[in-house]
Amino acid sequence: MNTLLLLQDLDLKIESLRAREAEIPKQKSKFDIHRKRLAAELAEREEMCKRLQLEQREAESDIEVKQGQIKKYDTQLFAIKKNEEYQALLHEIEMLKKQVALKEERIIAVMVDLDNAKARLTEDKKRIEAEQKEIEAQCALIDQELNEAAQERRQLESQRQPLIGQVEPGLFARYQRIRFAKKTGPAVVPLNGEVCSGCHMHVPPQIVNEVLAGKLHACAHCGRLLYDRENFPDNGR
Ligand SMILES: [Zn+2]
Repeated sequence: MNTLLLLQDLDLKIESLRAREAEIPKQKSKFDIHRKRLAAELAEREEMCKRLQLEQREAESDIEVKQGQIKKYDTQLFAIKKNEEYQALLHEIEMLKKQVALKEERIIAVMVDLDNAKARLTEDKKRIEAEQKEIEAQCALIDQELNEAAQERRQLESQRQPLIGQVEPGLFARYQRIRFAKKTGPAVVPLNGEVCSGCHMHVPPQIVNEVLAGKLHACAHCGRLLYDRENFPDNGR
């Protein structure tokens, strides 16, 4: 029984390490979401700069086209004889000049926006890169923790076989069946007075007496094997 309790201690430690190993990677998914959000934020800032640069270039080439048009009309003015046509072309030139002036104003506004967007991009890039670095450091720590848990578990698992060899096969089979049925937690539990400490139900006095005398019994309610703490104290293991 004492060896079985040693085995159970080992199995419970292995179980909690397995649970930790399953839990640890979940912390990383939180960081993955954060990392994606940062990348999206950076892409948005870069996109804003590109959009403004494009608008500036388009306005500049539009001005160029209009100025070419104005030059052409200016030369045509000399050839016109009729006053009406002359006035009409003059009006056309004025219109184009106004449009050019508006575009030039727009370009100035875009350039101011672009300067701001570039400054913000530089600033955000610095911040985001620092945050990404921090995330990577955190993820490395998580990986390390996971590795350590796995290593510790494997080390404990290697201690199982020698212990199993020392447990009476029938008892071990019973222990395994209960462990399998319960999925988690102990399969062997101490009596707590006349109560099963596994399910906290009352155990008949006859059974209690026999357990105290060293006989093997399972709790009638939860099926766990019962033992007497006096005979197998925790500090004895
Ligand atoms: Zn019970």
